[in-house]
Amino acid sequence: MKALNVEKTASKGFAMGNAYVLKKQDLSAQTHRIGADEVDKEIEKYQDAIKTAVAQLEELAKTSDIFAAHLEMAKDPALYDGVIHKIKTDRLNVQLALENTAEEFAAIFDSMEDEYMKERAADVRDVRDRLMRSLKGISQSTLKDIEGKVILIAEDLTPSDTSNMNLDHVLGFATELGGVTSHVAIIARNMELPALVGVKGLMEHVKDKDFIILDASNGQIIINPDETTIEKYRILEEEYKKRKKELESMSSLPATTVDGRTVKIYANVGNLEDVKKAAERGIDGIGLFRSEFLYMENTHFPTEEEQFEVYKQAAILCPKELIIRTLDIGGDKSLPYYTFDHEDNPFLGWRAIRISLDLEDVFKAQLRAILRASAFGNVKIMYPMIISQEELEKANDVLSKCKQELSSEGIAFDPDIKVGIMVETPAAVLCIENLAKHVDFFSIGTNDLTQYVLAVDRGNKKIANLYDSFHPAVVQSIKRIIDAGHAEGIEVGMCGEFAGDEKATVLLLGLGLDEFSMSLGETANIKNIIRNTSYEKAKECAGKAASVYTIQEVKDILNSFTNE
Ligand code: PEP
Ligand code: MG
Repeated sequence: MKALNVEKTASKGFAMGNAYVLKKQDLSAQTHRIGADEVDKEIEKYQDAIKTAVAQLEELAKTSDIFAAHLEMAKDPALYDGVIHKIKTDRLNVQLALENTAEEFAAIFDSMEDEYMKERAADVRDVRDRLMRSLKGISQSTLKDIEGKVILIAEDLTPSDTSNMNLDHVLGFATELGGVTSHVAIIARNMELPALVGVKGLMEHVKDKDFIILDASNGQIIINPDETTIEKYRILEEEYKKRKKELESMSSLPATTVDGRTVKIYANVGNLEDVKKAAERGIDGIGLFRSEFLYMENTHFPTEEEQFEVYKQAAILCPKELIIRTLDIGGDKSLPYYTFDHEDNPFLGWRAIRISLDLEDVFKAQLRAILRASAFGNVKIMYPMIISQEELEKANDVLSKCKQELSSEGIAFDPDIKVGIMVETPAAVLCIENLAKHVDFFSIGTNDLTQYVLAVDRGNKKIANLYDSFHPAVVQSIKRIIDAGHAEGIEVGMCGEFAGDEKATVLLLGLGLDEFSMSLGETANIKNIIRNTSYEKAKECAGKAASVYTIQEVKDILNSFTNE
Protein backbone atom coordinates (compact mmCIF):
# COMPACT_ATOMS: atom_id res chain seq x y z
CA MET A 1 0.00 0.00 0.00
CA LYS A 2 1.30 3.44 -0.93
CA ALA A 3 -0.23 6.90 -0.71
CA LEU A 4 0.33 10.01 -2.86
CA ASN A 5 -0.87 13.40 -1.67
CA VAL A 6 -1.80 16.71 -3.28
CA GLU A 7 -2.53 19.99 -1.56
CA LYS A 8 -5.52 21.12 -3.58
CA THR A 9 -8.25 18.92 -5.00
CA ALA A 10 -9.65 19.44 -8.49
CA SER A 11 -13.10 17.95 -7.98
CA LYS A 12 -14.26 16.52 -4.67
CA GLY A 13 -15.58 13.02 -4.08
CA PHE A 14 -14.41 9.45 -3.66
CA ALA A 15 -13.85 6.63 -6.12
CA MET A 16 -12.44 3.13 -5.87
CA GLY A 17 -11.47 0.85 -8.71
CA ASN A 18 -8.75 -0.40 -10.97
CA ALA A 19 -6.36 2.03 -12.59
CA TYR A 20 -6.39 2.53 -16.34
CA VAL A 21 -3.05 4.09 -17.10
CA LEU A 22 -3.03 6.16 -20.24
CA LYS A 23 0.51 6.10 -21.56
CA LYS A 24 2.08 8.78 -23.72
CA GLN A 25 2.66 7.36 -27.16
CA ASP A 26 5.68 8.15 -29.31
CA LEU A 27 4.19 8.35 -32.78
CA SER A 28 7.14 9.91 -34.56
CA ALA A 29 8.52 7.90 -37.47
CA GLN A 30 11.63 5.81 -37.14
CA THR A 31 13.58 6.97 -40.13
CA HIS A 32 15.86 5.17 -42.54
CA ARG A 33 16.24 4.68 -46.24
CA ILE A 34 15.54 1.23 -47.62
CA GLY A 35 17.15 -0.94 -50.24
CA ALA A 36 15.39 -2.11 -53.44
CA ASP A 37 14.85 -5.53 -51.86
CA GLU A 38 12.87 -4.02 -48.96
CA VAL A 39 10.33 -2.06 -51.05
CA ASP A 40 7.73 -4.83 -51.28
CA LYS A 41 7.94 -5.57 -47.58
CA GLU A 42 7.38 -1.90 -46.67
CA ILE A 43 4.42 -1.65 -49.06
CA GLU A 44 2.93 -4.76 -47.52
CA LYS A 45 3.29 -3.26 -44.04
CA TYR A 46 1.41 -0.19 -45.20
CA GLN A 47 -1.35 -2.25 -46.80
CA ASP A 48 -1.77 -4.20 -43.54
CA ALA A 49 -1.91 -0.97 -41.54
CA ILE A 50 -4.58 0.42 -43.87
CA LYS A 51 -6.60 -2.78 -43.63
CA THR A 52 -6.51 -2.67 -39.81
CA ALA A 53 -7.33 1.04 -39.69
CA VAL A 54 -10.27 0.66 -42.08
CA ALA A 55 -11.69 -2.23 -40.05
CA GLN A 56 -11.40 -0.22 -36.82
CA LEU A 57 -12.85 2.90 -38.36
CA GLU A 58 -15.78 1.06 -39.92
CA GLU A 59 -16.77 0.03 -36.39
CA LEU A 60 -16.19 3.47 -34.88
CA ALA A 61 -17.96 5.27 -37.75
CA LYS A 62 -21.22 3.62 -36.71
CA THR A 63 -21.39 5.90 -33.68
CA SER A 64 -19.53 9.05 -34.66
CA ASP A 65 -19.32 11.34 -37.68
CA ILE A 66 -15.73 12.17 -36.79
CA PHE A 67 -14.73 8.58 -37.48
CA ALA A 68 -16.82 8.45 -40.65
CA ALA A 69 -14.65 11.32 -41.94
CA HIS A 70 -11.50 9.47 -40.81
CA LEU A 71 -12.65 6.36 -42.62
CA GLU A 72 -12.97 8.30 -45.88
CA MET A 73 -9.51 9.72 -45.32
CA ALA A 74 -7.96 6.30 -44.60
CA LYS A 75 -9.45 4.97 -47.84
CA ASP A 76 -8.38 8.00 -49.87
CA PRO A 77 -6.42 6.72 -52.90
CA ALA A 78 -4.37 9.92 -53.11
CA LEU A 79 -2.97 9.38 -49.61
CA TYR A 80 -2.26 5.73 -50.42
CA ASP A 81 -0.52 6.58 -53.72
CA GLY A 82 1.54 9.29 -52.03
CA VAL A 83 2.92 6.88 -49.44
CA ILE A 84 3.60 4.12 -51.96
CA HIS A 85 5.37 6.59 -54.24
CA LYS A 86 7.68 7.65 -51.43
CA ILE A 87 8.49 4.03 -50.58
CA LYS A 88 9.11 3.02 -54.22
CA THR A 89 10.77 6.11 -55.63
CA ASP A 90 12.32 7.92 -52.69
CA ARG A 91 13.13 4.66 -50.91
CA LEU A 92 11.79 5.85 -47.58
CA ASN A 93 10.75 3.30 -45.01
CA VAL A 94 7.00 3.07 -44.50
CA GLN A 95 6.85 5.11 -41.28
CA LEU A 96 8.76 8.04 -42.77
CA ALA A 97 6.82 7.80 -46.04
CA LEU A 98 3.56 8.01 -44.09
CA GLU A 99 4.75 10.86 -41.89
CA ASN A 100 5.93 12.95 -44.85
CA THR A 101 2.93 12.27 -47.07
CA ALA A 102 0.42 12.97 -44.33
CA GLU A 103 2.18 16.23 -43.46
CA GLU A 104 2.11 17.31 -47.13
CA PHE A 105 -1.63 16.61 -47.25
CA ALA A 106 -2.27 18.39 -43.96
CA ALA A 107 -0.28 21.41 -45.14
CA ILE A 108 -2.43 21.65 -48.30
CA PHE A 109 -5.61 21.65 -46.19
CA ASP A 110 -4.06 24.10 -43.73
CA SER A 111 -3.43 26.60 -46.52
CA MET A 112 -6.98 26.55 -47.89
CA GLU A 113 -9.26 29.56 -47.51
CA ASP A 114 -12.41 27.58 -46.95
CA GLU A 115 -12.86 26.90 -43.21
CA TYR A 116 -14.36 23.46 -43.78
CA MET A 117 -11.42 22.34 -45.93
CA LYS A 118 -8.92 23.84 -43.47
CA GLU A 119 -10.39 21.67 -40.77
CA ARG A 120 -9.58 18.50 -42.72
CA ALA A 121 -5.91 18.88 -41.74
CA ALA A 122 -6.73 17.61 -38.25
CA ASP A 123 -8.43 14.54 -39.77
CA VAL A 124 -5.36 13.72 -41.83
CA ARG A 125 -3.16 13.91 -38.72
CA ASP A 126 -5.55 11.72 -36.72
CA VAL A 127 -5.58 9.09 -39.44
CA ARG A 128 -1.79 9.29 -39.68
CA ASP A 129 -1.58 8.60 -35.92
CA ARG A 130 -3.89 5.61 -36.20
CA LEU A 131 -1.82 4.15 -39.06
CA MET A 132 1.40 4.89 -37.22
CA ARG A 133 0.19 3.08 -34.08
CA SER A 134 -0.55 0.11 -36.23
CA LEU A 135 2.87 0.23 -37.92
CA LYS A 136 4.65 0.58 -34.58
CA GLY A 137 2.56 -2.08 -32.86
CA ILE A 138 1.26 0.43 -30.28
CA SER A 139 -2.16 -0.20 -28.77
CA GLN A 140 -4.96 1.84 -30.33
CA SER A 141 -6.64 2.16 -26.98
CA THR A 142 -7.75 5.70 -26.45
CA LEU A 143 -10.11 7.38 -24.05
CA LYS A 144 -13.00 6.63 -26.33
CA ASP A 145 -12.80 2.90 -25.87
CA ILE A 146 -12.21 2.38 -22.18
CA GLU A 147 -14.09 -0.64 -20.92
CA GLY A 148 -15.31 -1.60 -17.45
CA LYS A 149 -15.29 0.94 -14.62
CA VAL A 150 -11.88 2.45 -14.10
CA ILE A 151 -9.96 5.26 -12.49
CA LEU A 152 -8.12 7.02 -15.26
CA ILE A 153 -4.47 7.81 -14.60
CA ALA A 154 -2.63 10.04 -17.07
CA GLU A 155 0.31 12.36 -17.27
CA ASP A 156 -1.99 15.07 -18.58
CA LEU A 157 -5.39 15.36 -20.20
CA THR A 158 -6.64 18.03 -22.54
CA PRO A 159 -10.16 19.45 -22.28
CA SER A 160 -11.07 17.61 -25.47
CA ASP A 161 -9.68 14.36 -24.04
CA THR A 162 -12.00 14.81 -21.10
CA SER A 163 -15.02 15.59 -23.17
CA ASN A 164 -14.32 12.55 -25.34
CA MET A 165 -14.17 10.33 -22.28
CA ASN A 166 -16.83 7.66 -21.96
CA LEU A 167 -18.29 8.66 -18.62
CA ASP A 168 -20.05 5.37 -18.05
CA HIS A 169 -16.62 3.85 -17.59
CA VAL A 170 -14.68 6.50 -15.72
CA LEU A 171 -15.17 6.64 -11.95
CA GLY A 172 -12.69 9.45 -11.52
CA PHE A 173 -9.28 10.54 -12.71
CA ALA A 174 -5.89 11.78 -11.63
CA THR A 175 -3.18 13.49 -13.64
CA GLU A 176 0.45 14.18 -12.93
CA LEU A 177 0.27 17.65 -14.49
CA GLY A 178 -2.29 20.45 -14.38
CA GLY A 179 -3.60 22.92 -11.82
CA VAL A 180 -6.96 23.08 -10.07
CA THR A 181 -8.28 25.78 -12.40
CA SER A 182 -7.00 24.10 -15.56
CA HIS A 183 -9.91 23.40 -17.86
CA VAL A 184 -9.65 19.68 -17.27
CA ALA A 185 -10.24 20.24 -13.56
CA ILE A 186 -13.18 22.51 -14.32
CA ILE A 187 -14.76 19.92 -16.60
CA ALA A 188 -14.36 17.31 -13.87
CA ARG A 189 -16.22 19.56 -11.43
CA ASN A 190 -18.97 20.17 -13.97
CA MET A 191 -19.31 16.44 -14.43
CA GLU A 192 -19.14 15.93 -10.63
CA LEU A 193 -16.41 13.41 -11.24
CA PRO A 194 -13.82 13.00 -8.44
CA ALA A 195 -10.47 14.21 -9.76
CA LEU A 196 -6.99 15.14 -8.62
CA VAL A 197 -4.49 17.01 -10.75
CA GLY A 198 -0.83 17.82 -10.25
CA VAL A 199 -0.12 14.53 -8.43
CA LYS A 200 3.64 14.21 -8.12
CA GLY A 201 4.99 10.71 -8.84
CA LEU A 202 1.65 9.49 -10.20
CA MET A 203 2.95 7.90 -13.40
CA GLU A 204 5.90 6.32 -11.59
CA HIS A 205 3.89 4.73 -8.80
CA VAL A 206 0.57 3.71 -10.34
CA LYS A 207 0.58 0.71 -12.66
CA ASP A 208 -2.19 -0.40 -14.97
CA LYS A 209 -4.86 -2.40 -13.06
CA ASP A 210 -3.57 -1.41 -9.60
CA PHE A 211 -6.47 -1.06 -7.19
CA ILE A 212 -6.84 2.62 -6.34
CA ILE A 213 -8.68 4.66 -3.79
CA LEU A 214 -9.10 8.17 -5.16
CA ASP A 215 -9.90 10.41 -2.22
CA ALA A 216 -10.47 13.64 -4.09
CA SER A 217 -11.98 15.29 -1.03
CA ASN A 218 -8.80 15.14 1.01
CA GLY A 219 -6.25 15.01 -1.83
CA GLN A 220 -5.02 11.41 -1.53
CA ILE A 221 -4.46 8.47 -3.82
CA ILE A 222 -3.96 5.14 -2.12
CA ILE A 223 -2.46 2.41 -4.25
CA ASN A 224 -3.29 -1.23 -3.52
CA PRO A 225 -4.80 -0.59 -0.05
CA ASP A 226 -5.42 -3.32 2.54
CA GLU A 227 -8.94 -4.45 3.51
CA THR A 228 -9.12 -2.23 6.61
CA THR A 229 -8.33 0.87 4.54
CA ILE A 230 -10.87 -0.09 1.88
CA GLU A 231 -13.51 -0.48 4.57
CA LYS A 232 -12.60 2.87 6.12
CA TYR A 233 -13.01 4.59 2.75
CA ARG A 234 -16.30 2.84 2.03
CA ILE A 235 -17.66 4.47 5.20
CA LEU A 236 -16.15 7.88 4.29
CA GLU A 237 -17.66 7.67 0.81
CA GLU A 238 -21.09 6.83 2.23
CA GLU A 239 -20.92 9.76 4.66
CA TYR A 240 -19.83 12.10 1.86
CA LYS A 241 -22.73 11.06 -0.36
CA LYS A 242 -25.21 11.39 2.52
CA ARG A 243 -24.02 14.93 3.35
CA LYS A 244 -24.16 15.90 -0.34
CA LYS A 245 -27.74 14.66 -0.59
CA GLU A 246 -28.73 16.55 2.56
CA LEU A 247 -27.31 19.79 1.16
CA GLU A 248 -28.90 19.22 -2.23
CA SER A 249 -32.30 18.85 -0.63
CA MET A 250 -31.99 22.52 0.35
CA SER A 251 -31.04 23.64 -3.18
CA SER A 252 -34.31 25.32 -3.99
CA LEU A 253 -34.22 27.58 -0.89
CA PRO A 254 -33.11 31.18 -1.55
CA ALA A 255 -29.51 32.20 -0.81
CA THR A 256 -30.52 34.75 1.81
CA THR A 257 -28.22 35.67 4.67
CA VAL A 258 -29.46 35.66 8.27
CA ASP A 259 -29.89 39.44 8.04
CA GLY A 260 -31.78 39.43 4.75
CA ARG A 261 -29.38 39.98 1.83
CA THR A 262 -30.22 37.68 -1.06
CA VAL A 263 -27.64 36.76 -3.67
CA LYS A 264 -27.94 34.59 -6.74
CA ILE A 265 -26.39 31.14 -6.73
CA TYR A 266 -26.08 30.06 -10.33
CA ALA A 267 -24.45 27.18 -12.17
CA ASN A 268 -21.65 27.06 -14.72
CA VAL A 269 -22.48 24.65 -17.52
CA GLY A 270 -20.84 23.23 -20.62
CA ASN A 271 -23.77 21.64 -22.42
CA LEU A 272 -27.49 21.01 -22.43
CA GLU A 273 -27.14 18.01 -20.13
CA ASP A 274 -25.61 20.25 -17.46
CA VAL A 275 -28.45 22.77 -17.91
CA LYS A 276 -31.01 19.99 -17.40
CA LYS A 277 -29.22 18.80 -14.26
CA ALA A 278 -29.08 22.36 -12.91
CA ALA A 279 -32.78 22.92 -13.58
CA GLU A 280 -33.65 19.63 -11.87
CA ARG A 281 -31.70 20.70 -8.80
CA GLY A 282 -33.70 23.92 -8.54
CA ILE A 283 -30.89 26.21 -9.70
CA ASP A 284 -32.68 29.02 -11.43
CA GLY A 285 -29.95 30.66 -13.43
CA ILE A 286 -26.89 29.89 -15.49
CA GLY A 287 -24.10 32.38 -14.85
CA LEU A 288 -21.81 30.86 -17.45
CA PHE A 289 -22.73 28.69 -20.41
CA ARG A 290 -19.31 27.69 -21.72
CA SER A 291 -20.34 27.58 -25.37
CA GLU A 292 -16.92 26.35 -26.48
CA PHE A 293 -17.83 22.75 -25.64
CA LEU A 294 -20.41 22.84 -28.41
CA TYR A 295 -17.51 23.60 -30.72
CA MET A 296 -15.02 21.21 -29.14
CA GLU A 297 -17.30 18.18 -29.20
CA ASN A 298 -18.01 18.57 -32.88
CA THR A 299 -16.61 17.74 -36.28
CA HIS A 300 -17.09 21.24 -37.64
CA PHE A 301 -17.87 24.77 -36.49
CA PRO A 302 -21.47 24.31 -35.32
CA THR A 303 -23.88 26.07 -37.65
CA GLU A 304 -26.23 28.86 -36.56
CA GLU A 305 -29.10 26.39 -36.69
CA GLU A 306 -27.32 23.76 -34.60
CA GLN A 307 -26.40 26.34 -31.97
CA PHE A 308 -29.84 27.92 -31.98
CA GLU A 309 -31.45 24.59 -31.08
CA VAL A 310 -29.14 24.15 -28.08
CA TYR A 311 -29.41 27.73 -26.80
CA LYS A 312 -33.17 27.73 -27.27
CA GLN A 313 -33.57 24.52 -25.24
CA ALA A 314 -31.31 25.97 -22.56
CA ALA A 315 -33.33 29.21 -22.46
CA ILE A 316 -36.55 27.24 -22.05
CA LEU A 317 -35.07 25.07 -19.29
CA CYS A 318 -33.63 28.09 -17.49
CA PRO A 319 -36.07 30.92 -18.17
CA LYS A 320 -34.95 33.17 -15.31
CA GLU A 321 -31.48 33.94 -16.61
CA LEU A 322 -29.09 32.29 -19.04
CA ILE A 323 -25.73 33.93 -19.65
CA ILE A 324 -24.12 32.54 -22.77
CA ARG A 325 -20.43 33.23 -23.14
CA THR A 326 -19.31 33.56 -26.72
CA LEU A 327 -16.65 31.18 -28.00
CA ASP A 328 -13.66 30.99 -25.65
CA ILE A 329 -11.12 28.71 -27.31
CA GLY A 330 -7.37 29.00 -27.60
CA GLY A 331 -5.10 28.70 -24.55
CA ASP A 332 -5.49 25.03 -23.59
CA LYS A 333 -8.73 24.58 -25.56
CA SER A 334 -8.41 23.48 -29.17
CA LEU A 335 -10.80 22.27 -31.85
CA PRO A 336 -10.40 18.83 -33.44
CA TYR A 337 -11.21 20.27 -36.89
CA TYR A 338 -9.25 23.49 -36.88
CA THR A 339 -5.49 23.89 -36.94
CA PHE A 340 -4.13 26.57 -34.67
CA ASP A 341 -0.71 27.93 -35.56
CA HIS A 342 1.93 27.16 -32.98
CA GLU A 343 2.17 29.88 -30.32
CA ASP A 344 4.88 30.18 -27.71
CA ASN A 345 2.45 31.69 -25.19
CA PRO A 346 -1.01 30.44 -26.10
CA PHE A 347 -2.66 31.91 -22.99
CA LEU A 348 -1.40 35.30 -24.12
CA GLY A 349 -2.19 34.54 -27.71
CA TRP A 350 -5.01 33.99 -30.14
CA ARG A 351 -7.77 33.30 -27.65
CA ALA A 352 -11.43 33.97 -26.93
CA ILE A 353 -12.82 37.28 -28.25
CA ARG A 354 -9.68 37.78 -30.36
CA ILE A 355 -10.59 34.70 -32.38
CA SER A 356 -14.25 35.71 -32.67
CA LEU A 357 -13.32 39.16 -33.98
CA ASP A 358 -10.94 37.63 -36.55
CA LEU A 359 -13.34 34.93 -37.70
CA GLU A 360 -16.36 37.14 -38.21
CA ASP A 361 -18.50 34.51 -39.96
CA VAL A 362 -18.02 32.12 -37.06
CA PHE A 363 -18.82 34.92 -34.59
CA LYS A 364 -21.91 36.00 -36.51
CA ALA A 365 -23.29 32.47 -36.65
CA GLN A 366 -22.99 32.31 -32.87
CA LEU A 367 -24.43 35.77 -32.17
CA ARG A 368 -27.39 35.17 -34.49
CA ALA A 369 -28.08 31.85 -32.75
CA ILE A 370 -27.94 33.48 -29.31
CA LEU A 371 -30.15 36.36 -30.45
CA ARG A 372 -32.72 33.97 -31.87
CA ALA A 373 -32.71 31.99 -28.60
CA SER A 374 -33.33 35.24 -26.70
CA ALA A 375 -36.93 35.12 -27.95
CA PHE A 376 -37.44 32.07 -25.67
CA GLY A 377 -36.15 33.25 -22.29
CA ASN A 378 -33.98 35.76 -20.46
CA VAL A 379 -30.79 35.24 -22.45
CA LYS A 380 -27.72 37.42 -22.00
CA ILE A 381 -24.51 37.63 -23.99
CA MET A 382 -21.08 37.65 -22.39
CA TYR A 383 -17.77 38.30 -24.17
CA PRO A 384 -14.65 36.58 -22.79
CA MET A 385 -11.19 38.06 -22.22
CA ILE A 386 -11.97 41.67 -23.04
CA ILE A 387 -8.99 44.00 -22.65
CA SER A 388 -10.31 47.29 -24.01
CA GLN A 389 -13.29 49.45 -24.84
CA GLU A 390 -12.41 49.16 -28.55
CA GLU A 391 -12.64 45.38 -28.41
CA LEU A 392 -16.02 45.61 -26.72
CA GLU A 393 -17.22 48.09 -29.34
CA LYS A 394 -16.04 45.89 -32.20
CA ALA A 395 -17.90 42.92 -30.75
CA ASN A 396 -21.00 45.07 -30.28
CA ASP A 397 -20.74 46.27 -33.91
CA VAL A 398 -20.95 42.66 -35.09
CA LEU A 399 -23.88 42.16 -32.71
CA SER A 400 -25.67 45.20 -34.18
CA LYS A 401 -25.16 43.84 -37.70
CA CYS A 402 -26.70 40.53 -36.62
CA LYS A 403 -29.66 42.33 -35.04
CA GLN A 404 -30.25 44.32 -38.25
CA GLU A 405 -30.08 41.17 -40.37
CA LEU A 406 -32.54 39.31 -38.15
CA SER A 407 -34.92 42.28 -38.12
CA SER A 408 -34.92 42.52 -41.90
CA GLU A 409 -35.44 38.74 -42.12
CA GLY A 410 -38.40 39.07 -39.74
CA ILE A 411 -36.86 36.71 -37.18
CA ALA A 412 -37.75 37.24 -33.51
CA PHE A 413 -35.17 38.14 -30.87
CA ASP A 414 -34.93 40.28 -27.74
CA PRO A 415 -33.90 43.72 -29.07
CA ASP A 416 -32.82 44.77 -25.54
CA ILE A 417 -30.69 41.72 -24.95
CA LYS A 418 -28.22 42.45 -22.13
CA VAL A 419 -24.52 42.35 -22.94
CA GLY A 420 -21.78 41.86 -20.37
CA ILE A 421 -18.13 40.99 -20.20
CA MET A 422 -15.97 38.60 -18.31
CA VAL A 423 -13.54 40.60 -16.24
CA GLU A 424 -10.48 38.40 -16.35
CA THR A 425 -7.59 40.55 -17.51
CA PRO A 426 -5.59 43.15 -15.57
CA ALA A 427 -6.32 45.62 -18.41
CA ALA A 428 -10.04 45.29 -17.81
CA VAL A 429 -9.57 45.78 -14.05
CA LEU A 430 -7.51 48.93 -14.56
CA CYS A 431 -10.14 50.36 -16.92
CA ILE A 432 -13.10 48.95 -15.02
CA GLU A 433 -14.74 52.24 -14.06
CA ASN A 434 -14.98 53.13 -17.75
CA LEU A 435 -16.03 49.65 -18.92
CA ALA A 436 -18.87 49.74 -16.39
CA LYS A 437 -20.42 52.56 -18.39
CA HIS A 438 -20.56 50.43 -21.55
CA VAL A 439 -21.95 47.09 -20.40
CA ASP A 440 -25.01 45.71 -18.63
CA PHE A 441 -23.15 43.41 -16.25
CA PHE A 442 -19.77 42.06 -15.22
CA SER A 443 -18.80 38.51 -14.43
CA ILE A 444 -15.43 38.06 -12.79
CA GLY A 445 -13.36 35.25 -14.27
CA THR A 446 -11.00 34.56 -11.40
CA ASN A 447 -9.38 31.57 -13.10
CA ASP A 448 -7.79 33.77 -15.71
CA LEU A 449 -7.73 36.91 -13.61
CA THR A 450 -5.54 35.15 -11.03
CA GLN A 451 -3.20 33.81 -13.71
CA TYR A 452 -2.86 37.17 -15.47
CA VAL A 453 -2.67 39.39 -12.36
CA LEU A 454 -0.06 37.15 -10.74
CA ALA A 455 1.66 36.11 -14.00
CA VAL A 456 1.25 32.47 -12.90
CA ASP A 457 0.16 29.91 -15.52
CA ARG A 458 -3.05 28.33 -14.19
CA GLY A 459 -2.07 24.88 -15.46
CA ASN A 460 1.58 24.73 -14.43
CA LYS A 461 2.14 22.33 -11.56
CA LYS A 462 5.59 23.67 -10.83
CA ILE A 463 4.25 27.04 -9.78
CA ALA A 464 0.87 25.86 -8.51
CA ASN A 465 1.81 27.08 -5.02
CA LEU A 466 1.98 30.64 -6.42
CA TYR A 467 -1.45 30.44 -8.00
CA ASP A 468 -3.62 31.77 -5.20
CA SER A 469 -6.79 33.83 -5.61
CA PHE A 470 -6.45 34.97 -1.99
CA HIS A 471 -3.44 37.06 -3.06
CA PRO A 472 -4.16 40.68 -2.05
CA ALA A 473 -3.71 41.80 -5.66
CA VAL A 474 -6.55 39.50 -6.73
CA VAL A 475 -8.73 40.32 -3.72
CA GLN A 476 -8.31 44.05 -4.29
CA SER A 477 -9.02 43.61 -8.01
CA ILE A 478 -12.26 41.85 -7.14
CA LYS A 479 -13.22 44.66 -4.75
CA ARG A 480 -12.51 47.29 -7.40
CA ILE A 481 -14.59 45.47 -10.01
CA ILE A 482 -17.56 45.10 -7.66
CA ASP A 483 -17.36 48.73 -6.52
CA ALA A 484 -17.07 50.00 -10.10
CA GLY A 485 -20.04 47.92 -11.22
CA HIS A 486 -22.19 49.08 -8.31
CA ALA A 487 -21.23 52.72 -8.86
CA GLU A 488 -22.81 52.42 -12.33
CA GLY A 489 -25.74 50.41 -11.03
CA ILE A 490 -24.84 47.19 -12.80
CA GLU A 491 -24.81 43.69 -11.38
CA VAL A 492 -21.50 41.98 -10.68
CA GLY A 493 -21.21 38.21 -10.73
CA MET A 494 -18.35 35.77 -10.61
CA CYS A 495 -18.06 32.62 -12.70
CA GLY A 496 -14.45 31.74 -11.94
CA GLU A 497 -13.85 28.77 -9.65
CA PHE A 498 -13.28 31.11 -6.68
CA ALA A 499 -17.06 31.65 -6.55
CA GLY A 500 -17.45 28.00 -5.53
CA ASP A 501 -14.60 27.99 -3.01
CA GLU A 502 -16.16 27.74 0.44
CA LYS A 503 -13.16 29.51 1.99
CA ALA A 504 -13.93 32.59 -0.14
CA THR A 505 -17.69 32.79 0.40
CA VAL A 506 -17.65 35.25 3.31
CA LEU A 507 -15.13 37.45 1.50
CA LEU A 508 -17.14 37.60 -1.73
CA LEU A 509 -20.43 38.05 0.05
CA GLY A 510 -18.96 40.85 2.15
CA LEU A 511 -17.43 42.57 -0.88
CA GLY A 512 -20.94 42.77 -2.29
CA LEU A 513 -20.89 40.14 -5.06
CA ASP A 514 -24.40 39.84 -6.48
CA GLU A 515 -24.19 36.52 -8.26
CA PHE A 516 -22.05 33.45 -7.52
CA SER A 517 -21.84 31.04 -10.46
CA MET A 518 -20.08 27.72 -10.01
CA SER A 519 -19.96 24.02 -10.83
CA LEU A 520 -23.27 22.48 -9.93
CA GLY A 521 -21.70 20.23 -7.29
CA GLU A 522 -20.63 23.23 -5.20
CA THR A 523 -23.93 25.15 -5.24
CA ALA A 524 -25.62 23.46 -2.28
CA ASN A 525 -22.66 23.94 0.04
CA ILE A 526 -22.15 27.62 -0.85
CA LYS A 527 -25.85 28.34 -0.50
CA ASN A 528 -25.82 26.69 2.91
CA ILE A 529 -22.90 28.88 4.05
CA ILE A 530 -24.62 32.05 2.85
CA ARG A 531 -27.87 31.12 4.57
CA ASN A 532 -25.95 30.86 7.84
CA THR A 533 -23.93 34.07 7.50
CA SER A 534 -24.60 37.66 8.50
CA TYR A 535 -24.05 40.06 5.60
CA GLU A 536 -23.13 42.90 7.97
CA LYS A 537 -20.46 40.77 9.65
CA ALA A 538 -19.21 39.52 6.29
CA LYS A 539 -18.88 43.11 5.07
CA GLU A 540 -16.75 44.02 8.06
CA CYS A 541 -14.53 40.97 7.58
CA ALA A 542 -14.17 41.51 3.79
CA GLY A 543 -13.27 45.16 4.35
CA LYS A 544 -10.36 44.06 6.53
CA ALA A 545 -9.30 41.30 4.13
CA ALA A 546 -9.20 43.76 1.23
CA SER A 547 -6.89 46.13 3.06
CA VAL A 548 -3.95 43.88 3.92
CA TYR A 549 -0.94 42.95 1.83
CA THR A 550 -0.07 39.31 2.45
CA ILE A 551 -1.93 36.15 1.45
CA GLN A 552 -1.54 34.87 5.00
CA GLU A 553 -3.20 37.95 6.49
CA VAL A 554 -6.13 37.61 4.07
CA LYS A 555 -6.52 33.96 5.03
CA ASP A 556 -6.12 34.63 8.77
CA ILE A 557 -8.81 37.32 8.67
CA LEU A 558 -11.19 34.97 6.87
CA ASN A 559 -10.35 32.04 9.15
CA SER A 560 -11.11 34.10 12.22
CA PHE A 561 -14.53 35.10 10.89
CA THR A 562 -17.36 34.39 13.22
CA ASN A 563 -21.02 35.24 12.93
CA GLU A 564 -21.22 36.00 16.67
C1 PEP B 1 -12.32 32.25 -15.76
O1 PEP B 1 -11.32 32.54 -16.40
O2 PEP B 1 -12.45 32.46 -14.53
C2 PEP B 1 -13.46 31.59 -16.42
C3 PEP B 1 -14.60 31.39 -15.81
O3 PEP B 1 -13.29 31.18 -17.69
P1 PEP B 1 -12.44 29.90 -18.14
O4 PEP B 1 -12.10 29.13 -16.88
O5 PEP B 1 -13.31 29.13 -19.06
O6 PEP B 1 -11.25 30.50 -18.78
MG1 MG C 1 -11.37 32.61 -18.57
